[in-house]
Amino acid sequence: MIHHDLKLYNTLTRQTEKFVPLHPNLVGMYVCGPTVYSNAHLGNARTFISFDVVFRYLQHLGYKVRYVRNITDAGHLESDADEGEDKISRKAKIEQLEPMEIVQRYTIDFHQMMASFNALPPSIEPTATGHIIEQIEMTKQIMANGFAYESNGTVYFDVEKFAKDNNYTALTGRNLDDLLNGTRELSGQDDKRGRLDFALWIKAKPEHIMKWPSPWGEGFPGWHLECSAMSRKYLGEQFDIHGGGMDLAPTHHTNEIAQNIACTHHKTPVTYWMHTNMLTVNGQKMSKSLGNSFLPHELFNGSHPLLDKGYSPMTVRFFMLQAHYRSTLDFSNEALQAAEKGFARLMNAMKLIEHLKVGVSSTSNVQVLRENIYAALDDDFNTPIALSHIFEATRIINSVNDGKESITHEDKELLKKTLYEIVYQVLGLKEENAVNTDKIDGLMNMILEVRNEAKTRKDFSTSDLIRDKLKEIGFDIKDGKEGSKYSLIN
Ligand code: AMP
Ligand code: ZN
Repeated sequence: MIHHDLKLYNTLTRQTEKFVPLHPNLVGMYVCGPTVYSNAHLGNARTFISFDVVFRYLQHLGYKVRYVRNITDAGHLESDADEGEDKISRKAKIEQLEPMEIVQRYTIDFHQMMASFNALPPSIEPTATGHIIEQIEMTKQIMANGFAYESNGTVYFDVEKFAKDNNYTALTGRNLDDLLNGTRELSGQDDKRGRLDFALWIKAKPEHIMKWPSPWGEGFPGWHLECSAMSRKYLGEQFDIHGGGMDLAPTHHTNEIAQNIACTHHKTPVTYWMHTNMLTVNGQKMSKSLGNSFLPHELFNGSHPLLDKGYSPMTVRFFMLQAHYRSTLDFSNEALQAAEKGFARLMNAMKLIEHLKVGVSSTSNVQVLRENIYAALDDDFNTPIALSHIFEATRIINSVNDGKESITHEDKELLKKTLYEIVYQVLGLKEENAVNTDKIDGLMNMILEVRNEAKTRKDFSTSDLIRDKLKEIGFDIKDGKEGSKYSLIN
């Protein structure tokens, strides 16, 4: 058994609860992944970095975690209300590419972005197009249970029927009548019976590219269905944690729950629902449609017009961890600059701790500090509080290094172990060996000076050896009247 006090905020109960997995030592976690029709932006990154910390901390506590994060490569329409075109089909038409070329391009882009932020890959990354059969089967089951109907080749989930015996809005606590009143009234042209009904399977128009045969004709699955079908397939009819951005709770997740209950009759298919808050720009949600999104490379090289300069991926990860995942986080130059300084201080302390001199007593209580860090992470993954205790650790390290405080050998080892585990393994931060062009330049000029001295001594075998070796590495040396110059061979 794992002994700890992990508590997490459950959107479903609106309470912070003790974490008790369904099976001791095992955790099943599903997080809605990206829709791969365009480059993932930093808002998307925030959500996935938050769950990366959840994944890492659960593993650190000793759980065997099966983390499933899907790739949405079909079925996500332009509007969440089953209207408009499939986002991927639309992009494929605009770019005159196969939909799968779009999917491939942006899946690679997403993976590169996540790797640059040092996020661990999930245990399973299933795609919607790879699970069409499972989605058709689930639709059949929901129909057989009486919670869905077919109309003109499209299959709808019957929300009103479901809501008779189930709390359809359990996740958000909204009033069903208010929701009904706020939804567009049906016109004679609608195929669905109730205004809240949503599509499980959608009939494809003749021009639609991504379609599959089904008992109801050619079509494609609805967006909500893929997550129900894939979470059920890989994590079972009941599992521990389901996550995603807060914006997914009212529709996507609400419908996922309804589908799972209608299919399997389990009243609580998921024990804990976790939702991350939004990354904002000047207080507005960062989103592609609002045109205020930042792409990772624009941030790394500072090319975005709102930025003063570029910031490294670990600075950005650190910046994100300085806010709790359930709070909004606003993007600003000042906050990023502060994060850059804070991160550099932390990395410096991580290096200093190796060589700290030990004494006969400790001025600070390292054991308490360690407990404080764990208490913060156990309190709904409170990374900003954990970081504030980690900064107390850097203060201690600097003071001991300056000879103002002392630390025993045991405490130094405990502090080192704590920082290594928490900073590197749990928070997923790492030392960045930024290639510093000034330093390379200095190094090259030094080598050329040595070579020049060899030439002055008429030691041509040494000067030629240096030139040839540099060529092997990729530097071209040109000797001229004003001395030697180097350039990179491409
Ligand atoms: P999408 O690719 O649009 O389906 O979004 C992927 C994930 O990113 C979802 O969980 C969204 O809730 C999340 N997301 C989108 N915009 C933001 C944002 N500005 N801040 C945090 N998460 C976001
Ligand atoms: Zn989903």
